[in-house]
Amino acid sequence: MKEKLLISACLLGHNVKYNGLNNKITEIDLLKKYFDFIIICPEVDGGLPIPRNPSERLKDKVISAKGKDVTKEFLIGKTKALELVKKYHIKYALLKEKSPSCGKQTYDGTFTHSLIERSGITAEALINQNIKVYSELEIEELIKNFRS
Ligand code: SF4
Repeated sequence: MKEKLLISACLLGHNVKYNGLNNKITEIDLLKKYFDFIIICPEVDGGLPIPRNPSERLKDKVISAKGKDVTKEFLIGKTKALELVKKYHIKYALLKEKSPSCGKQTYDGTFTHSLIERSGITAEALINQNIKVYSELEIEELIKNFRS
């Protein structure tokens, strides 16, 4: 049986991004050689629509570009991801960088494209559970570390 990999749906080409598009990566077949995918989109899983306004983390909250507090939806999405981790005994995750849910880095809440060293709501929770979280910029590292 292959190892399970928690993976952002948009990286697989699912049109779940805030703007209705995706962030499809080219390494899907390579990853399939090593992993079975457990697919998440914490924002949609938390009840937000497609398309939706982009959001950013601001202190303890997540606020949309239109000023709406969407913290509750982000927390529901995080909880669902953690449930999947527990259910499938997941140790590895590949998540979309810079997302307020999935990113290892995120924007600072000012909607000025300023990155800070603070992870998205779901990524942060996974890291706190000692899940090995990689971004789409670290696929080589993920495979290398998994095989070693
Ligand atoms: Fe992709 Fe995660 Fe954003 Fe969903 S929440 S669109 S999976 S980055």
